[in-house]
Parts: sequence; structure tokens; C-alpha cells
Amino acid sequence: MPMKRSRALRPKPADALVVLAVVLAAAALGVYFWGGSSSGSLQAVISQNGQVTETVNLSRLTEKEERVITSNGYTLHLVLTSTEVWMESSTCPNQDCVHTGKISRPGQSIVCLPARVSVMLTDGNASGVDAVLG
Ligand SMILES: [Zn+2]
Repeated sequence: MPMKRSRALRPKPADALVVLAVVLAAAALGVYFWGGSSSGSLQAVISQNGQVTETVNLSRLTEKEERVITSNGYTLHLVLTSTEVWMESSTCPNQDCVHTGKISRPGQSIVCLPARVSVMLTDGNASGVDAVLG
């Protein structure tokens, strides 16, 4: 983690955010251990036009879920399971998002440029910190 220790010596309003992130990360960790999983919880972050519209905690899914996303004139059918996410179908011209196939690891993503939709998998633990540091 690229956190500088010097921040503790110079209190700033931003410190509150860092503290919050740490607290959230710790809380998230607690949830992981409580849930019996030590490998982190998988989350799918769905964005449209660069804005997050929904975050789905895949680890909590008990059955397959679908999302119909309409964006920029296109309709996308996203399927989410507890371990994988894929674009079932899309009306976009290049079908890149559909051809991406199934993603199952943090850091992987499905992007549909024509529809300006992206689905990114994150480890719930790391995403909170990244959001603040980024
Ligand atoms: Zn597409």
C-alpha cells in the first residue's frame, strides 16, 4: 500500500477519508472472515458513462441474476453468478462485450464502448482503498 506515514503528522480533512477507508476495509475484512472466505469477496461494479450505477456483491448471490442495461441506445443483457459475470447478449455493433466471455477474477472487466458500459470485477477489500487513493 502506497500510504505515507507522514500524513499522520500533518492532519488534513482528507485524513478523515483515509481513516474511513481503513475502517471500511477493516469492516469488509470482518465480513469476509465472518463469511468463512479468506480470499476476499468478489464484487461486480457496473458503470454507465463512467458513473457507477450498481455494485453487486457476487459472493452473496445464491442464484444467477440478470441485468438489462439500456445505455446510449443499446440494450445489454448482463448475467451475474456468485463466481462469474458475462454479457449474455448485446445490441451493440461490434459485440466485443459479448466476445469477452466470462470474467471471474478481480481486475477483469467487460467493456462495451458503443454503449459506454463497463463491468469490472473487484475484490471488495481493495476497491474501497483504491477509490480514496485514486
Ligand atoms: Zn458491446
